[in-house]
Amino acid sequence: MIVVGAGFSGLACALALAEAGAEPLVLEARDRVGGRTLSRPLPDGGWLDLGAQWIGPTQDRMYALVSAYGLETFPSPAHGAPTLLLDGRPAAEPAGLAALLGTLDELAAAVDPAAPWRAAAAAEWDRTTLGCWLAATAGDPVTARYAGRLLAGGLLAASPDEVSLLQMLFYLRSGGGAGSLLGMAGGAQQDRIVGGPAALAQRMAAALPPEWLRLGAPVDGIAQDAAGVRVRAGDQVHRGDAVVVALAPALAGRIRYDPPLPALRDGLTQRMPMGAALKVHARYPEPFWRADGRSGVATTDTGPLTETVDNSLPGRPGGVLTGFSYGAQARALRRLPDAARRAALRDALVALVGPAAAEPEDLVEYDWSADPWTRGCFCGLVTPGSWCDYGPELRAPVGRVHWAGTETATRWSGYLEGAVTAGERAAAEALD
Ligand SMILES: Cc1cc2nc3c(=O)[nH]c(=O)nc-3n(C[C@H](O)[C@H](O)[C@H](O)COP(=O)(O)OP(=O)(O)OC[C@H]3O[C@@H](n4cnc5c(N)ncnc54)[C@H](O)[C@@H]3O)c2cc1C
Repeated sequence: MIVVGAGFSGLACALALAEAGAEPLVLEARDRVGGRTLSRPLPDGGWLDLGAQWIGPTQDRMYALVSAYGLETFPSPAHGAPTLLLDGRPAAEPAGLAALLGTLDELAAAVDPAAPWRAAAAAEWDRTTLGCWLAATAGDPVTARYAGRLLAGGLLAASPDEVSLLQMLFYLRSGGGAGSLLGMAGGAQQDRIVGGPAALAQRMAAALPPEWLRLGAPVDGIAQDAAGVRVRAGDQVHRGDAVVVALAPALAGRIRYDPPLPALRDGLTQRMPMGAALKVHARYPEPFWRADGRSGVATTDTGPLTETVDNSLPGRPGGVLTGFSYGAQARALRRLPDAARRAALRDALVALVGPAAAEPEDLVEYDWSADPWTRGCFCGLVTPGSWCDYGPELRAPVGRVHWAGTETATRWSGYLEGAVTAGERAAAEALD
């Protein structure tokens, strides 16, 4: 059995195969495991999570893995009050926001995350962008804009007009609703892993015999016939009974298949572009925002950054404020030369957290869109109008080729938890 990709999905798949007595070979393009997780060590022994960082309640497989591999979690900081800026000014939460989120949760209840295309209103929701729906439903433009940035941006790393209402409802249902997805304590941003998720990926990989994992092995061809599969990575060809491709669909579509993939499956990979998020860590001598009772959690409906969080590590000196930009704003930032982008990021931090944010000791970012083995984040998204026609291909095996990766998960799709459960599901399927 061959597994392509050593992100959380590929690693979980390989571990499940090994548990069942198989001897998988994992082929990973990079010279490291962990995929969309990456830690940057700091001189004081701390670290920055440049990719995924949080886990939260109901992500049971992730908590189980943290514990099984001897790691611990710690809660996200909860000091002080959040900041909200609307139209550039301090404001209370828009009056209609809670009801709007409630309406979305009610609609999402009609969506089966294993088959969103089966919802009675699926066709209509698929052709309606979230942006159009918010404009018609939110009551006022500021609420529509703010909700769009929190939902399309904060959850999908997209602009509201890039994603369908059906994609949003699928995601809400998959992650347990708006409160679960957007929340810190009690929600998806509740806990972090000591050493970061990348440390967990390394421990998962170390549990496999070394000869079962090949790093620096980008797979470029998968051929199958009645005898089995032949998976090519450069000048190496590996043979097996079946292969699990544990990649985002956009990247899976870049492999050459023989025989070629069925048209609808290939069409799906053409219709699942990666999101666009820019995550930036600003390091300060101390978490200055706490002194005047603020949490460092700030959100806004304008400007390049949609939100910040306090990412300082407990028991370590220094403060870390982490900002996120999404969709069109993230792309606009990426178009700027380095110096101009960093100046724009500092200005945006000042707008959200005040003048003391102007001079960070360091600004640390990682461009996932430019990374050839990720090409965007947080995850792949089905384009408007495509769920109904192409959705059924998302998990359907093609002969001996099985599909994993967080995008194929039905619970916590887009998250580490979804990556793990998708890998385990694909392992069971391939063994069958
Ligand atoms: C900035 C950022 C913040 C995020 N925040 C969170 C968060 O807080 N919580 C959370 O749960 N999730 C978060 N996510 C999402 C989370 O990282 C992903 O859901 C998860 O890591 C996906 O795992 P995966 O194994 O499905 O895919 P990947 O991690 O993408 O793994 C795929 C692997 O395949 C390899 N690969 C690609 N092409 C080939 C090829 N041709 N041949 C061989 N190998 C190949 C890649 O190098 C990679 O290692 C975040 C992601 C990013 C980038």
